[in-house]
Amino acid sequence: MSSALADIALPLPLNQLFTYLLPDHLQSRAQLGMRALVPFGKKHLTGVLVGFPRSTSVRNLKAVRDILDARPTFSATMLRLTQWMADYYFVPWGEVLRAATPQGLAQEIKQKVSLVVLPSAAELQSFRKKARRQFQILRLLESGPMTIGQIRKKVSSTALYSMLRELEGRGWIAIHEELKDAKAKPKLQTVVRLSEHALSKAAALSKPLPAKQKMIFETLQEFSHPVSTREFLRKTRTSSSSLRSLAEKGLAQIFQQEEIRSIEYENPEPALQLTLTAPQKSALTAIAGAIDESRYHTFLLHGVTGSGKTQVYIEAIRSVLAGGKTAIVLVPEISLTPQTVRRFRSHFGSDVALMHSQMSVGERFDAWRMARDGRIRIVIGPRSAVFAPLENLGLIVVDEEHESSYKQYDASPRYNARDVAVVRATIANAIAILGSATPSVESYHNAESGKYHLLKLPDRIDAARLPRIDIVDMLQERKRVFAEIRDKVRSQGIAFPKHLPQSSVSQLLKEQIGLRLQRKEGVILLQNRRGFSHVVECFDCGYVERCDRCDVTLTYHSAKKHLRCHYCGAVKKPPSFCPNCRGIEIRFHAFGTQQVHQELEELFPAAAVVRMDLDTTTRKGAHDRLLQQFGKGEADILLGTQMVAKGLDFPRVTLVGVISADTQMLLPDFRASERTFQLLTQVAGRAGRSNLAGEVVIQTMQPSHYSLKHVVLHDFPGFYREELAYREELDYPPFSRIVVVELKGKREDEVSKQGRVFADLLREQQRDRFFTVLGPADAAIPRIRNLFRKLIVIKD
Ligand code: ADP
Ligand code: ZN
Repeated sequence: MSSALADIALPLPLNQLFTYLLPDHLQSRAQLGMRALVPFGKKHLTGVLVGFPRSTSVRNLKAVRDILDARPTFSATMLRLTQWMADYYFVPWGEVLRAATPQGLAQEIKQKVSLVVLPSAAELQSFRKKARRQFQILRLLESGPMTIGQIRKKVSSTALYSMLRELEGRGWIAIHEELKDAKAKPKLQTVVRLSEHALSKAAALSKPLPAKQKMIFETLQEFSHPVSTREFLRKTRTSSSSLRSLAEKGLAQIFQQEEIRSIEYENPEPALQLTLTAPQKSALTAIAGAIDESRYHTFLLHGVTGSGKTQVYIEAIRSVLAGGKTAIVLVPEISLTPQTVRRFRSHFGSDVALMHSQMSVGERFDAWRMARDGRIRIVIGPRSAVFAPLENLGLIVVDEEHESSYKQYDASPRYNARDVAVVRATIANAIAILGSATPSVESYHNAESGKYHLLKLPDRIDAARLPRIDIVDMLQERKRVFAEIRDKVRSQGIAFPKHLPQSSVSQLLKEQIGLRLQRKEGVILLQNRRGFSHVVECFDCGYVERCDRCDVTLTYHSAKKHLRCHYCGAVKKPPSFCPNCRGIEIRFHAFGTQQVHQELEELFPAAAVVRMDLDTTTRKGAHDRLLQQFGKGEADILLGTQMVAKGLDFPRVTLVGVISADTQMLLPDFRASERTFQLLTQVAGRAGRSNLAGEVVIQTMQPSHYSLKHVVLHDFPGFYREELAYREELDYPPFSRIVVVELKGKREDEVSKQGRVFADLLREQQRDRFFTVLGPADAAIPRIRNLFRKLIVIKD
């Protein structure tokens, strides 16, 4: 017997494949990319079949237990892509494949046993004597299928498995595998429709239909496709017996049909028919040319906010579909971009499927199958949608390509979906379009060096002008307020106030908001801190409350009246006196969204303010609802964290205020300036998107920071050049490549020690190739959830 071999990639943190025997009965079914159930230690694991090796040096091979797919879960392209990722990001292939598998398929397998034929009395008699236990099993199964676990409870035997195999061999029972999680199976619903020739059949009836049945019959004629019986009965307020009678008369058909779970956006607005502007046209011509050639090509579409990038994606997809191909659109975070998604829906309707983590397992499984089966041709989603199983891929769009949410850094596999998208395009001979108003330094550098093709949309649509931007120095502002109070104290002879008023809204911003409220125009305010205020500070000694486990300052949440750690979620009561100096002057310092909200209510009692941050948008759909409210003009001011900075397109917004630009600038990260420039440019871009002129007010304690200078001038190239020079000087990407190794542990000395050992090992590798190893050093947040964190940085 020739035993074939199979290489299986298992979802284990081990950098190797595992070889198994492939039993005869599975050989004809097994194909690369199919999921396989294999024994591993005492368990069974689901892995992916990735190779048929000719030989192996491994002894005592175990056999593949079963092949779980009728068709490969992974195409040849996806196997190549995931293998590249495993290699490039130092991740076991099996872990990449697990991340690329729709969640519903990754469930555990359950084995079920059922009776096929009951042996004849004579057979049973002879059998009973030899094998009392097998006989017992057959009798058990007479009342219906059972799982192996259930049988084991009734029949105690160590060799249960081989007994079952013997019974299976005689053809008396069958053993099959089922997904444990029934949610991931196709969902069936009962539907009803008119049967064929129903009208002539009805005409030929000897008696007329009773009133109820007649009504049902007539209502059914309005539907061209099967409708869910449950819904039909509810809407027509009839009983199932009338429906059944119709079916018995041969007028209606009731049957089971697969239900596709997908989140429907209520009636997408009809698509606008737009005439492309000249820059849009020339961008599209370049893209369409590459699409016609069917050769890999990456475009960097640099267009200021509101310049019509999304429209270019839409037209590019149209030409890809016309050529019989499919498209993926990556967006930074699906819940943050309902407007964008709706726009794609209005153009492509049911050809679009969403894939994202707020969908249920079943919904995701359905979207995945529809994509694989070619029933939809466009997938939109966040980073994981880069794995969408579309065949014949023609285009991948990465919208807002600079966004850090494309990077998965908190769980294996750690990857950047933007870069994976470019590699997928290479493998599939497809086109990639990376779009942004503020491209990442790396991508722009790639465009300058000719690796990518740069396309520009330099102007806003309809001659809408970019907004005017003012910087307010908040230190000066505080001095001014202080001086005013001092003058008042002197001139009126009153007592010096104990508390100095500390406002998060400057005079200029206050005036500007007031003006918009008068004119009934919209205002967006960005404060990149959620909650009420972010620290609790002792006025006398400066003591600040921190998390005991994470070493970060705690945030006060006034709704719950507690301090919360935003890293580990730990909660604490605010102190009534300072634990350090016993002073009683405890102050809430700095400004979270919630505090700014209160302040706005005091300053503008008549204004309607909606607040949007992680705390107000945890419920599904909450985000979209708040936005719709604001878009319709039911609210005057939209206040929020960086959620309000991205992708929103509301023509009525003419003022954008940034409460504090500093929260981003102070992060200890070589990309901090870049992120600041991007965030501020993005949020500024929400103002003045129509014929109404926009204005932006940015408040900061560091008015001379170089990224602000370029934000004010809307000067991306200027920022890019200055940033690039800084990167070159300090040898940061794109002039080097950086790998960060994070070590975590409960005991700080142990983490340090192991870090040093590892760093030394790395340094020893430097003989034939030079790279720098830095560290180990404390991470920016040295402790999270009681684990000490040290970083080793490798610069190549
Ligand atoms: P971006 O994606 O660059 O921010 P959008 O594609 O959202 O820009 O375009 C901004 C606004 O201009 C949208 O309301 C869009 O419908 C509109 N728009 C885009 N292209 C055109 C065009 N060619 N003619 C008229 N309006 C357009
Ligand atoms: Zn904590």
